[in-house]
Amino acid sequence: MSLVIVGSVAFDTIRTPWGDRERIVGGSGTYCSLAASFFTRPRIVGVVGRDFPRKTLAELRARGVDLAGLKIKAGQTFHWEGRYGEDPNRRTTLRTELNVFADFRPRIPEAYRGSRIVYLANLNPEHHAFVLDQFRRPALVAMDTIRLWIDTKRDVLLKELGRVDIFFANDEEARLVTGETNLITAGKALLGLGPSLVVLKKGEHGALVFGRDLVFGVLAHPCEHVVDPTGAGDSFAGGFLGYLDKTRGLAVREVRRAAVYGSVMASFAIEDFGINRLLGLDRALVEARFRQFRRLTTF
Ligand code: AMP
Repeated sequence: MSLVIVGSVAFDTIRTPWGDRERIVGGSGTYCSLAASFFTRPRIVGVVGRDFPRKTLAELRARGVDLAGLKIKAGQTFHWEGRYGEDPNRRTTLRTELNVFADFRPRIPEAYRGSRIVYLANLNPEHHAFVLDQFRRPALVAMDTIRLWIDTKRDVLLKELGRVDIFFANDEEARLVTGETNLITAGKALLGLGPSLVVLKKGEHGALVFGRDLVFGVLAHPCEHVVDPTGAGDSFAGGFLGYLDKTRGLAVREVRRAAVYGSVMASFAIEDFGINRLLGLDRALVEARFRQFRRLTTF
């Protein structure tokens, strides 16, 4: 079992109609590794400043996250600020302070180089090749992206899509990359760019998984009080990839289950600010919600 997650470990300032939080712990790598930790022992590659709380590092370790690839550098941790309106699926980035993340050239520790699954979370696509070339022969490479890279590094991003097996995108990103408004057409168009699996996340409406012979829909858990949608996408990826790492399979049955576990982990992440809810979980709660999903969709 080996899943390497390359992504941001951050402070987030979150503004929602229901409340604000200043400089709480977030980051794509943090959410993803915590979500994956319920299935496997994820390895995180990232960088934080000396201002990053030791308590959080201890909490990640306690959840089984391997931090050997997380650098602590002199300087300040990456800080992102975003605002949500009444629609939790839409957000505005108010500020991005890269800080120590600015010159982050992810070095993969020797012990990680033979890993089976690599996840590139929101990474500048110009750094993908540098990261992937350090691995010996991963069985699966997955990536996520953000609007920033679609707008500013489109050509590199399209090229990198040809090197990955799984692409996670939300509906807006899928439309921006492909120019298609219909999500089914967009999903199929993304498959044509290289990945053998495309996961289109639709926020509170769940997700669609596209493969060569597969279109699979998974609901989002019906949640009346979304507290903080930040990290839902990365938690989905963590549940999905963590489960695939645990089962080692890629058959349609496993992919479908992975998508449900992805949705389960995302549904927990949004129930509280930051990583609080993920930190408070245990495996029994994860399995109970998985069973609720089954009841919700079996007929
Ligand atoms: P998600 O809501 O799953 O799309 O991811 C939210 C996380 O992405 C937040 O915790 C942010 O810290 C992180 N994030 C936002 N902008 C960037 C960026 N430019 N590079 C890396 N991570 C980012």
